[in-house]
Amino acid sequence: MTRPLDDTHDPGLRSWVASANDPAGDFPIQNLPLGVFRRRGRSDVPRLGVAIGDQVLDLRRCGELRLFDGPPEVVAAAREASSLNRLLALGPEAHGSLRRAVSTVLRADGSRAEPAALVPLADAELRLPVEVGDYTDFYASIVHARNVGRLFRPDHPLPPSYRHVPLAYHGRSSSLVVSGMPVKRPCGQRPPAGGERPSFGPTERLDYELELGAWVGAGSRPGQPVAIDDAERHLGGFCLVNDWSARDLQAWEAQPLGPFLSKSFATSVSPWMVTVDALAPFRCAAARPAGDPPPLPHLASARNDALGGLDVTVEAWLESAEMRRCGIGPMRLSRARFREMYWTVAQMVAHHTSNGCPLRPGDLLASGTVSGSEDDAAGCLLERAAIGAPATLPTGERRGFLADGDEVTLRAYCSRDGFARIGFGSCSVRVLSASGGSPESR
Ligand code: MN
Repeated sequence: MTRPLDDTHDPGLRSWVASANDPAGDFPIQNLPLGVFRRRGRSDVPRLGVAIGDQVLDLRRCGELRLFDGPPEVVAAAREASSLNRLLALGPEAHGSLRRAVSTVLRADGSRAEPAALVPLADAELRLPVEVGDYTDFYASIVHARNVGRLFRPDHPLPPSYRHVPLAYHGRSSSLVVSGMPVKRPCGQRPPAGGERPSFGPTERLDYELELGAWVGAGSRPGQPVAIDDAERHLGGFCLVNDWSARDLQAWEAQPLGPFLSKSFATSVSPWMVTVDALAPFRCAAARPAGDPPPLPHLASARNDALGGLDVTVEAWLESAEMRRCGIGPMRLSRARFREMYWTVAQMVAHHTSNGCPLRPGDLLASGTVSGSEDDAAGCLLERAAIGAPATLPTGERRGFLADGDEVTLRAYCSRDGFARIGFGSCSVRVLSASGGSPESR
């Protein structure tokens, strides 16, 4: 299920790219996340890249310079593709061989230093790295489910199915956008306020959701459920996901079939796929408490219990237009630990395919809002309000929900003694007004 540790994880490895050797950076040589980019201001074909320090290693250029070795189909996918899908489809052995090849190219002790294959991150226009066929969003944090459920069902906040089924809704892939693309406040039907009829107009309750997403690697076949201990062989890696939500629209439309237009206007993802291999040192036990009902057999395994969790710290930050004007800088809204999630990613994959539904390379499976047991660990504004802790910004502004001009930044990282820190980069998005403007442009 989980990937083995090898010399690519060695914390002593150093790169000839000097900025990659900063112990506080997101992209050391032990990380090697994959993305798609082109040089800003150019019309080059988008190409695959690996983030390393403050640079991007251009895999197309590496192929042209014959810098790396590996199975021909892996080298060809790295050199020729304009999205990660082709590489994702090749499966875990291919991902492992590309990781070893790139690690060799970037090592300080190697002889392959080739500055001509680097592009500064600041000059790279990062794109949505995957052509996404389907997007599913789970609800895997029991803390989040309980806090939000309390708003709607005070007597029984958790649905009776919660501890048995990894609940999810089917999202919309057409409105997935990469970090940096602004999101316009959506219009929709708002519930009747006193009167009998709903109204149509800009949402008054725009919210973010702090989530991690898993990119599907090798697909699965129709009618063929994936066994839980094979589940992670069908994943390529992870990203940050902001599942933007219009809470007034959601409250009005979501019964009985679940969210629809309250979520489908936009979902933002971070540009770098942190691979399953890179996260191997940060596996941990699944979080299900011993006294809870055991999952049904197809969602249970000893390996999942022991190593199904992922020890990733996730954070959400907010900067209002006023904070930007005053030069205050963003404020952290929440910090939570992904290892507290009730359902593991392997359980999500096993559940998703248990009815025979096929997964395809590049599908996105998001975790649901990541919240935690600590006071500052509510992964969206709705939940902060539910637990009575609405945000007050350093300017004195209050945030029950997001205002036009707010910029929400999600971050994630792994750290553990004896291993290099692995960062996810960020997913940073500004909210525009319903007419597409920002406070600064008024
Ligand atoms: Mn969500």
